[in-house]
Amino acid sequence: MSDEAEGCPACRGTGHTRARYILERLVSCLLIAGADDANKDRPRAQPGRPHPNLDGMALHLPAGPHEPPDVVWSGTGMAELTTGLAGRPPSGMGHDAIDRWNSTDKIVRAAGLDPATWGICPACKGDPDGLLQESAPTTPPEPT
Ligand SMILES: [Zn+2]
Repeated sequence: MSDEAEGCPACRGTGHTRARYILERLVSCLLIAGADDANKDRPRAQPGRPHPNLDGMALHLPAGPHEPPDVVWSGTGMAELTTGLAGRPPSGMGHDAIDRWNSTDKIVRAAGLDPATWGICPACKGDPDGLLQESAPTTPPEPT
């Protein structure tokens, strides 16, 4: 199986510009941090470490005079922030794609941009596989 995206070559099948793709990846990291915060009491594969997708993102607090550096995911209020962005709290599994869409939409609006048009691939108009054209209403068949 090929790793190459199918559909529109301009957006590699995402339907978005690179800017929107990057924003959605960053929003995903925010939502993961919120879910990590909300579910911080759950047993972890790596106790004391943030979600693997956040590891290495320079999220560590500076060391205090008598404390080692610490990760910021625990008790940070990120769950409150991401619940506000997503419009609902994360489930035990975290935030889902609808939460990411809602959060991205709010951030784009906060920037004074229209989420219906900002970051949409200009080549395929957000329809990288042409599915919207295929499902567009057609002329009904003539009655027989
Ligand atoms: Zn495209």
